[in-house]
Amino acid sequence: MPAKLTSAMFLDRDGTLMEEADYCSDPAKVRLIPGVTEALGALKKAGFRLVIITNQSGIGRGYYSMADYEAVQKRLLELLGEGVIDATYFCPEAPEANSPRRKPSPAMVFEAARDLGLDLARSWFIGDKAIDVQCGHAAGTRAILVRTGHGHAEDAGRAEFVAKDFASAAAFILRPADASP
Ligand SMILES: [Mg+2]
Repeated sequence: MPAKLTSAMFLDRDGTLMEEADYCSDPAKVRLIPGVTEALGALKKAGFRLVIITNQSGIGRGYYSMADYEAVQKRLLELLGEGVIDATYFCPEAPEANSPRRKPSPAMVFEAARDLGLDLARSWFIGDKAIDVQCGHAAGTRAILVRTGHGHAEDAGRAEFVAKDFASAAAFILRPADASP
């Protein structure tokens, strides 16, 4: 019998888990959005795999180096706690490079689904931009736009839910009527 696929939360990083810091290249500037740690813990406990999907065009634009990205990422994972995030996929290309992996392309979500054995129809994408909602839907997940980061000015499109922040998005997903992933 094939192994049962797991559901996942695909997470945008900047403006969703951590405060938007305009092409953050400095680990000292990493600030978690309040409530994120607790919300991730609750989602993990409910059985969701937690996967970050992030465009990091600052690398391709020459605003910061791969080493800067890695330092910021390391600091974020430290703040979130060891083992909380299952995997991170990032696209370093500038928009002009037309990378087929760059959000709103679902390519990075498909990479994660293949690597981790994820059931996309039972998964969600949470982000602060319309491209996050589009990415999730293109991959076959449901999607939530959060109003933190750039989210206050973004078009929610066909998002299944609009949340004031990540904690509210997690509470919506884990509400009693829909508690099992
Ligand atoms: Mg973002």
